Amino acid sequence: MTEWTERELRAVREKLEARLAELADQGERTRADRAPVQLDQSKVGRLSRMDAMQVQAMSAETQRRREAEAKRIDAALARIASGGYGYCVRCEAPIPRKRLDLNPAAPTCIACAG
Ligand SMILES: [Zn+2]
Repeated sequence: MTEWTERELRAVREKLEARLAELADQGERTRADRAPVQLDQSKVGRLSRMDAMQVQAMSAETQRRREAEAKRIDAALARIASGGYGYCVRCEAPIPRKRLDLNPAAPTCIACAG
């Protein structure tokens, strides 16, 4: 019942690859925010050192989340390539389409995600 056509899988793959490119782009554009904070912040900008460190920490956390999402996407792309896409990696039940529409990189069914 959850058979995926080639066309559907291609559409999912394109969606995942687009998101991957977006994540890489965001990571690239915010790279400077994660650079080490200068000791004397007055020379580099209007932010205080404390503020600059907070910006850096938040950016680093956001980047960690981007990298985790990129890993999930890579894994989903691998499942598409191997024919396992759309099935829960834990219990192998078909993952509802609605769930995959919302999160095409979801590796598990809802029961196993909990
Ligand atoms: Zn499951």
